[in-house]
Amino acid sequence: MMELLWLLLPVAAASGWWVARREHAGRNESAVRNAEYFKGLNYLIDDKPDQAIEVFTRMADVDRDTAETHLALGNLFRRRGEVDRAIHIHGSLIARTNLTVEQRRRAVMELGEDYLRAGLFDRAEALFRELVDQPDHMEIAVSRLIYIFQQEKDWRQAITYCDRLEQIGGESKRRQTAHFCCELAEEASSQDENAEAKTWLFDALARDPGCARASLLLGRLAMRIGDHRAAIAAFQAVERQDRGYFPEVIGPLGQCFGTLNRLDEWVHYLREVQERDHGGRVTDALAEWLLKLEGEDVALRFLERELREYPTLLGLRRLVEIKLARGEGTEYADLRALHCISTQMLNNAARYRCANCGFVVKSLHWCCPSCQQWNTIKPMPDLVMKTSG
Ligand SMILES: [Zn+2]
Repeated sequence: MMELLWLLLPVAAASGWWVARREHAGRNESAVRNAEYFKGLNYLIDDKPDQAIEVFTRMADVDRDTAETHLALGNLFRRRGEVDRAIHIHGSLIARTNLTVEQRRRAVMELGEDYLRAGLFDRAEALFRELVDQPDHMEIAVSRLIYIFQQEKDWRQAITYCDRLEQIGGESKRRQTAHFCCELAEEASSQDENAEAKTWLFDALARDPGCARASLLLGRLAMRIGDHRAAIAAFQAVERQDRGYFPEVIGPLGQCFGTLNRLDEWVHYLREVQERDHGGRVTDALAEWLLKLEGEDVALRFLERELREYPTLLGLRRLVEIKLARGEGTEYADLRALHCISTQMLNNAARYRCANCGFVVKSLHWCCPSCQQWNTIKPMPDLVMKTSG
């Protein structure tokens, strides 16, 4: 009912206009057109939007007021998910020759929104491009183009329009453009264009010095060409930029320190990080390295002390694992059961969660598939039961 009332407003305005217009225009012609309007209105009241639309769109003599009506009707259909009808209405409006310049621009904008909703990105793009130089519409048109280029993974164009949005005083998109640069770096890297990849990653860091993804990719790039010192510097930057992503670099960092025979330094560094971050992943990694380098007594003492204050399932499983490795004993069967249960829970757990919408997934996405925000999905510090993704 609310939708219908909303719908009737422009129609009522239009019919009012017709009443006034009758005093100036030919009475017969006006009466016929007025009757058409009321016919359309009756269809709406009878909840027959198809017939109503036919009546309104049949009215060839579109002028200022009927254009408003058509815009409103088209928007209503789009909101209701009836995009084909919205496209039909807005498309037929644009084809008219007697619209004002502003009415035509609004119709172009609405038709662009229709195509966007329908997933017809190339058509939507062409329409929004028409509006990017029009002061009243440019901010929305540029925002829509950015959305389209992201969907099409045309990162260069997306960067160009993000920069333009910032120039015209819109919202800053530096965090997003840093990710677009990272996307281009990954593309270049996949084609062994290491120099180009590096240039894109420096561009990403210039746009957003806190972009941990750029440092992570720089580290991988350096590893690939055998520059383990540079890789260590890049991976360590991740912890300073965004500690939440540190679990992603623990494996490769340990590998780099190992290659350079600097494992003592690695464990010392990992201890420092673990004092700042008592999450399960860092604790588990430190326990694993302590076990390898300093033996099971040191690793067990560390875990027993740590878990009392900061209990984590990953840490608990590591503790059980070390005790099990000691061999048969009175508690062996209990420990085996505990290990089995904790492993099962961890295998079913989500590894990553979006800080913005709560979406959980098993692998890292830099853009959340649910809320489309960049840089919001991060590794879980410990177990969280999988609820989606
Ligand atoms: Zn999200």
